[in-house]
Amino acid sequence: MTDQELLAYTQAWSLAAFQRPFRHQIYFNRRLKTTGGRYHLSDHHIDINPLMLEEFDLANLKRVVLHELCHYHLHLTGRGYQHRDQDFKQLLAAVGGARYAPRTSQRRRVQAQQRYCYQCQACGIRYWRKRRVNLARYRCGRCRGRLILKKIEKTSR
Ligand SMILES: [Zn+2]
Ligand SMILES: [Zn+2]
Repeated sequence: MTDQELLAYTQAWSLAAFQRPFRHQIYFNRRLKTTGGRYHLSDHHIDINPLMLEEFDLANLKRVVLHELCHYHLHLTGRGYQHRDQDFKQLLAAVGGARYAPRTSQRRRVQAQQRYCYQCQACGIRYWRKRRVNLARYRCGRCRGRLILKKIEKTSR
C-alpha cells in the first residue's frame, strides 16, 4: 500500500467513524518499532508502522489508524486527547479503535534485546536477567533481601 492509498483510506475512515474530515498527512514510517502509530501535535501528521498491515491485515491497520484519529480529532477540537483522558477512552471505544497495537516481529526483537538489572536492597548485589522477575516472589540468592528493579537496558546487537 502506498502513502497515497493510506491517505485515501484514512480520509474515508475519518468521515465514516468521526463525521469529520482528515485534512493533514499520514505516512508509513518504518522507523516505528514498538508502536503502531504516532500522532504529531506540532503539525498534526500521523505516522503508521507499516508492519500493522504487512504482518496483520487491513482490519488491523484500520483499528490502528482509528486510534491515531482519536488523538487527532480530540486534539484539534480542544478535548482530552491523551490516553488517560476520559474523552479519549470514550471516543476510542465508540469508534472501535485499537487500545494496543499488536505485537510485531520487530517488537519481539526489541524485547529480546532487553536486559533487566535487579539490585538487592540489603546487600547491594546486582543481578542481570533477560526476563522480568516477580519481585513479590524472588529474593536475593545471597542474603534473601528484597530485590528492586534498577534499570532496563538494551543489549548491543
Ligand atoms: Zn495513542
Ligand atoms: Zn542480598
